[in-house]
Amino acid sequence: MIDFTLRVGIFLFILSLLFIWQCFLPRGPLLQWRQRWRHNMALLVLGALCVRLVQPLLLSFVAVLSLDVGLLDVLALPFWWSFLISILLLDCLIYWQHRLFHRIPWLWCLHRVHHSDPELDVSSAVRFHPLEILLSLFIKASAVWFIGIPVEAVLVFDILLNASAMFNHTNARLPAKMESFVNRLLVTPDMHRIHHSRLSSEADSNYGFCLSIWDSLFASRTWLASQGDECLSIGMPNTKAYRPMSLKALLVMPFKNFRTLP
Ligand SMILES: [Zn+2]
Repeated sequence: MIDFTLRVGIFLFILSLLFIWQCFLPRGPLLQWRQRWRHNMALLVLGALCVRLVQPLLLSFVAVLSLDVGLLDVLALPFWWSFLISILLLDCLIYWQHRLFHRIPWLWCLHRVHHSDPELDVSSAVRFHPLEILLSLFIKASAVWFIGIPVEAVLVFDILLNASAMFNHTNARLPAKMESFVNRLLVTPDMHRIHHSRLSSEADSNYGFCLSIWDSLFASRTWLASQGDECLSIGMPNTKAYRPMSLKALLVMPFKNFRTLP
């Protein structure tokens, strides 16, 4: 319960800070924010409810299977080494998970709900189909079990991942000098915005959420949008103007053939 309250408290605190940032120093106007915020917050609540239902089952399953045979258990490293390596491995895992969600067609059907947002702001960070959230939970739980990640690292990584996702979707910009320095290590809003381009060549790049080093290391980095950041067209790749009109349209989107979407 303390864990849940702590997470919600940190989530709301960071959300408020980034919301203030994008209100006072916006990158550009948000023309559809009312409908987008309704959709994104509804998906957040639905996703959180699904996680609350499934998590106890998953935790007991992992607890039953846990025999201290994870890779890190076998290596028996000092706690802080295990902790740091776990954070890096989890971030690398999220990078590859994201990349596979773009590559494998049925996974893309789920993930395209996130990319259907026609504008980006801090609320876009929670726009995920509940099935994608559940699948991510299973993938992460498997990794935690297989690698033997300490529970402290899981908690800190979850907070880091949420904070990074909110930061890199914010409708704001870092000062130019800071941007060129920070984006070598961390994913920034300017870097992640390119991932939300309608051009598929750009959407299929910049997969990182927290550290930007994975995109450099695995050759998936786009440094500048072809149209420039100002003219970058955000939304569903390979479409000109697709915009879901209802929450139901978002929930059924993974089960629809793309050509039949409104
Ligand atoms: Zn994506």
